[in-house]
Amino acid sequence: MANIGFIGLGNMGGPMAANLVKAGHNVCGFDLVQENVATFIAAGGKSAASVGEATRDVDVVISMLPAGRHVSTVYEATDGVFESAPKGALLIDCSTIDVTTSRRLASVAAQKGFEMLDAPVSGGIMGAQGATLTFMTGATDEGFARAKPFLEQMGKNIIHAGGVGNGQAAKVCNNMLLGISMIGVCEAFNLADELGLDRQKLFDISSTASGQCWSLNTYCPVPGPVPTSPANNDYKAGFSVAMMLKDLKLSQDAANGVGLSTPLGANATALYEAFADEGNSDVDFSGIIKNLRKSDS
Ligand code: NAD
Repeated sequence: MANIGFIGLGNMGGPMAANLVKAGHNVCGFDLVQENVATFIAAGGKSAASVGEATRDVDVVISMLPAGRHVSTVYEATDGVFESAPKGALLIDCSTIDVTTSRRLASVAAQKGFEMLDAPVSGGIMGAQGATLTFMTGATDEGFARAKPFLEQMGKNIIHAGGVGNGQAAKVCNNMLLGISMIGVCEAFNLADELGLDRQKLFDISSTASGQCWSLNTYCPVPGPVPTSPANNDYKAGFSVAMMLKDLKLSQDAANGVGLSTPLGANATALYEAFADEGNSDVDFSGIIKNLRKSDS
């Protein structure tokens, strides 16, 4: 059993932290939103009044925050992780953030006597709840070996993607692909509607044929075929449009940084940006199906 400080108890962090409690760890959580803290306490966790209090006497710190600026604040601010956690503690950031911030924080951590690694995830809230996430880990060999037993209690596939920052590099590539594939699946359902092809029939065929992918098989953007997908819950996020747009922008920044052209990634970014601008930032990212259809008619 380890003492774990868990910062960020939102859609993903809440169930991830709850799985660590279930595995028998002593987990102290902190979040700015009281409702999220209350849900975690109901799942058996403890809570703290600040980042510093949550990370003071711990073996491991895990963070699951929206973006790079939140992660920088949580680790570097007064009473933050770097100031409060005991030297030698293992620091695992599971948020999806830019590679540059991730590598910079790991380097500051090393100077302060911590091992820090990036371990962004794939698998959505269902993966977080069911402890079936994929972790893409950027770490030294030693850091990876230390983190793996904890990550295995929250996920199924724990992959060492290379040195620090490579977990984020893998995540950005994966999510550019996800944004593109979701739009592709939406376009296929919209076309099926117009051609008089039943949605369930398209699902039954494509989910077992060459069109299969996670956006279709697990996260189907129309109600019915996959009862757990957000389409059945009025597109309540899930993985919000704001988060998808954030990841697509990270992918485009990364591509621009190395002078690479990613035309479908650029198009997906523009489509999600337009959808967000119409007031849909909090909607699940699969909800873009309605917008794609609207822009055609
Ligand atoms: P979320 O907004 O539901 O949760 C983030 C939490 O961080 C919120 O509860 C917020 O209050 C908290 N927070 C922000 N600043 C804080 C601070 N200074 N101190 C303490 N808490 C703070 O987001 P999420 O959906 O859980 O996503 C978290 C990360 O995981 C993001 O980087 C996202 O890109 C990534 N991710 C999300 C999904 C998904 O399906 N939701 C899937 C894979 C990866």
